[in-house]
Amino acid sequence: MTYLHRRAFLRVSSVVVVSAASSFAVPALAKVAAPAVIGTKEIDCRTLVMNNLHSGEKVKSDYWVDGDYVPGELARINKVLRDFRTDEVYPIDPKLLDFVHLLGNDVDARSGFEIICGYRTPATNEWLRKESSGVAEHSLHMKGQAIDLCAPGRSLKKVHEAALNLRLGGVGYYPDSDFIHVDTGRVRRWTG
Ligand SMILES: [Zn+2]
Repeated sequence: MTYLHRRAFLRVSSVVVVSAASSFAVPALAKVAAPAVIGTKEIDCRTLVMNNLHSGEKVKSDYWVDGDYVPGELARINKVLRDFRTDEVYPIDPKLLDFVHLLGNDVDARSGFEIICGYRTPATNEWLRKESSGVAEHSLHMKGQAIDLCAPGRSLKKVHEAALNLRLGGVGYYPDSDFIHVDTGRVRRWTG
């Protein structure tokens, strides 16, 4: 069971407990637990808005709808998060997208995120390691499990704190370069 599923399950469970304890009123429970209604269709979705600073490409995507990831939408996101130096596309870990999605909710990132780096080919990673310090030899960017980002209009410090509080993976803080790194590796933190 994923973190998100657990969260959803716990949320629904607590509603059931509260309602059952008060009156066993099923209609009231249904009203509380109902998802958002748009038009006549009930939908539950996760949306990401991302702007790749290197390519200038933007994507707004409902990448998860009614309980499932949407393959076509994941493909659109993968393209925007490709290695812009080589144009190579790689599947980004959907759990990483959930991490970023939750982060966006927590900091109310209405303009979405600016992406400094998504996928990196091994060749690009090796090149970056020679050019600059702080690039890991076995970077999770090469597995589609890491993104460097910032949120326009939101302080990097707040975004960083929110990412740490989620405890969904690694979080690197790069205040001098104005971005944070998030990944779906083990929970850990560092400052670059
Ligand atoms: Zn990174």
